[in-house]
Amino acid sequence: MPRIIMMGPPGAGKGTQGELLAQLWSVPRIAPGDIFRAAIKAGTDLGKQVKAFSDSGKLVPDELVVEVITDRLQAPDTDRGWILDGFPRTVPQAEALNQFLTAHLQQYDLVINLEVPEEVLLQRLQQRALEQGRVDDTAEVIRQRLQEYYDKTRPLLEFYGDGVAPVDGTPPMEVVTRNIQNLIKESALV
Ligand code: AMP
Repeated sequence: MPRIIMMGPPGAGKGTQGELLAQLWSVPRIAPGDIFRAAIKAGTDLGKQVKAFSDSGKLVPDELVVEVITDRLQAPDTDRGWILDGFPRTVPQAEALNQFLTAHLQQYDLVINLEVPEEVLLQRLQQRALEQGRVDDTAEVIRQRLQEYYDKTRPLLEFYGDGVAPVDGTPPMEVVTRNIQNLIKESALV
C-alpha cells in the first residue's frame, strides 16, 4: 500500500510521473493544482477563493489547501494508498500532513524529489505553455512560481531530511519512471 509524496519544482515532471505510478498501483493521484483548476473552471466557491493566487503563480494559503487535501485523504479510494503530487508545498503544510497521518494511524512511505536544473525547467514550462495553454505558464507567472518554490517549498527538503529520495528528472520520461520504480522496489513498498 504505497503512500508517496512527490516533490520537485514546477516543470520537473511530478504530474506525469505521479499519474503513471497511480495507474500502475491503482491508487489515486491527489494534486491540489488539478483540484484548483477544476474548481476554477466549474466556478465553485473554492474556485473563486483560489483563482487570484493560482493565476498569478502564488501559493494558495496553507489553511485552505490543508482543508481541501485532508478532506480528500479521507475519501474511500485512499484505502489502498495514494500519490500526493504538489502537496505539501510549505513547512506548515507538511506539519499539518504529519498531524493528519498520526491522527489516522498512518505514515507516508517515501518522499521522492525530482531534480531538474532551472534552465531545463524554464524550457519545459515554456513548451507546456505552447502545448496546453495553461494560464499560469506565462513568463512572469513562471518566474513567480519558481520563486515560490525556492522560498517556500525547497525548505521542505530539510524538513524531510533523510526521508527524501532524490531522482534525476532530466532524462526521458520512461527512464525517470524506471528509476522511480527501481527505487520503490528497493524500498520494498510494492
Ligand atoms: P500545480 O499544478 O501543482 O503547478 O499548481 C498550480 C497552482 O495551484 C499553484 O501555482 C498554486 O497557486 C496552487 N497550488 C497547488 N498546490 C498547492 C499547495 N500545496 N499549496 C499552495 N498552493 C498550491
